[in-house]
Amino acid sequence: MKDRLMRGIGVSPGLAIGAAVVVQSQLPDVPHRVVPRSQVEREVRRLRAAVKDVQRHITDLKARAAERVGPDEARIFDAQLLMLEDKDFLGAVEDLIRENHLTAEKAFEFKALEQRDAWMSVGSARLKDRITDLNGVMVRVVRHLMHLGNDELEGFAKGSIVVAREIGPGLTVQMDRAQVVGLVSEEGTKTSHAAILAHSMGMPAVMGLTGALGRIHTGTMLLIDGGRGTVLLEPTQEEIIDANVREVKDHERVVELERGVSLPAVTTDGLRVALRGNVDLPEEINAARAHGAEGVGLLRTEFFVTGHTSLPTEDEQVRYFSRVGKAFPDYPVVIRTFDLGGDKFPAAFQAPFEANPFLGWRAIRVCLDQPELFRAQIRAILRAAVDTQLHLMIPLVTRVSEIERTREMVAEEADELRKEGVPAAPSVPVGVMIETPAAAVLADRFVAASDFLSVGTNDLTQYTLVVDRGNARLADRFTPHDPSVLRLLQQVADAACAGRKPASVCGEMASDPLSAFLLIGLGYETLSVAPPSLPRIRWLVRQVSRAKAREAAHAALDARTDGDVLDILRTGVAACGIDPSIL
Ligand code: PEP
Ligand code: MG
Repeated sequence: MKDRLMRGIGVSPGLAIGAAVVVQSQLPDVPHRVVPRSQVEREVRRLRAAVKDVQRHITDLKARAAERVGPDEARIFDAQLLMLEDKDFLGAVEDLIRENHLTAEKAFEFKALEQRDAWMSVGSARLKDRITDLNGVMVRVVRHLMHLGNDELEGFAKGSIVVAREIGPGLTVQMDRAQVVGLVSEEGTKTSHAAILAHSMGMPAVMGLTGALGRIHTGTMLLIDGGRGTVLLEPTQEEIIDANVREVKDHERVVELERGVSLPAVTTDGLRVALRGNVDLPEEINAARAHGAEGVGLLRTEFFVTGHTSLPTEDEQVRYFSRVGKAFPDYPVVIRTFDLGGDKFPAAFQAPFEANPFLGWRAIRVCLDQPELFRAQIRAILRAAVDTQLHLMIPLVTRVSEIERTREMVAEEADELRKEGVPAAPSVPVGVMIETPAAAVLADRFVAASDFLSVGTNDLTQYTLVVDRGNARLADRFTPHDPSVLRLLQQVADAACAGRKPASVCGEMASDPLSAFLLIGLGYETLSVAPPSLPRIRWLVRQVSRAKAREAAHAALDARTDGDVLDILRTGVAACGIDPSIL
């Protein structure tokens, strides 16, 4: 079995058994072939027919995505459709066929690569998204012309496991869960955005599985364990039975945990912990409610823009925010303003080339520099807050002036809406995400300037340890249990407590039971977690005492290494009567 077992990073728990479907996002080798003059027009016709077929196919994918996850996410396909309507580009491909007698696939590839090189040399971050779309279109059209299958996402039998070098959020959104039961990729880690999405969608996933494509082929039977991060190739009948037994046990545990959905998350010594949900996509609203979320602690809004060719209108945003707010009439819903930048720029957006996009023009920096984008979002939040409990939260803050300026803009827009006679809340609480060392170190100042704090441990870990959160090669270095991150977490909790402002944690760390125990010990009383993790975290809270959690946190702060921290936490939960091996 050993040689059939591969280990990666478990990013979304659960077992899945199925046949692999290897997603070919790479361009096949296109032979350089010329055709006789008499066949040139036939190649042009073949090109036109292929473009039409691919257009139809993408339109179909878009419709299916709209049905599954909503019309907004489905707009992710618009950019590719637009490219297939580009008359100048297609005209140039036809000219190349006629002038050089090339096959349709060779001419299309040539022109697409030429276009890609031209965009790459501009080096604009805005074009990065477009290059990804261009690649997508190129692969689809060329594969179609070469009769290599219509599309990488087509023809999944029920129970397929998607295997790819890299799985982006766009691909994850397209997955039909009736067909796809699991995900495996060579790249990616627990905190890469596609992993967060898979977790939110409750789809078992293993990422960072180095060498996967060398060993797994379409049709290879796989048994994946998204909790343990393992992938077993060609499992035997016995291994499948074992896995099923484990799955049944896991399922029984989940059912048992879900029975506790309406029980309050109170520790054995009476501390009430508020458990909220992280919502990345509209379809997760129901999952969060079903799992007993007390509101939304992090509503990510980037799905509105990433991969889209246009920015959402104010009215579109009002509709969505209002829908989420109304889904939780008794609880707050914390809307995080656009966290654009890095690799998340909509095609419609002018972004400059940057050597280090993750240290560059991102998040609140973009919003403050592009007031029309930010003001529309602020207005949408104020309007939707008229009959809901919406909060506004700003990401990647590093200086107090960013909070002050945001507050001024909120007040200005509230005033404007009042003058216009548009129904809107007169104000909303303004909170700050603590996800940079600067913000953590200055937490006392940030507390004074804002209404609440929420720690984004994904970015806080990335920026404190200088480890790219999506780099599989560095995955063992990316740990929120590093004592440096722990001290920052403690500093933030203490500052919030001293300033009498609420502080929560909404990074992935809060979805992990052992870490949730630590966070409670550090003084956090609100955790916002991926909806599927709510039952487990609720169960954990109900088993432990704040006193024991405090003791463990105290010892963890003195630990030398992340390994020591984990040992301390395991001992701590064991002292509360929990077998740490089941966490
Ligand atoms: C974080 O950084 O921890 C966070 C919650 O934000 P995101 O994962 O969306 O960057
Ligand atoms: Mg973040």
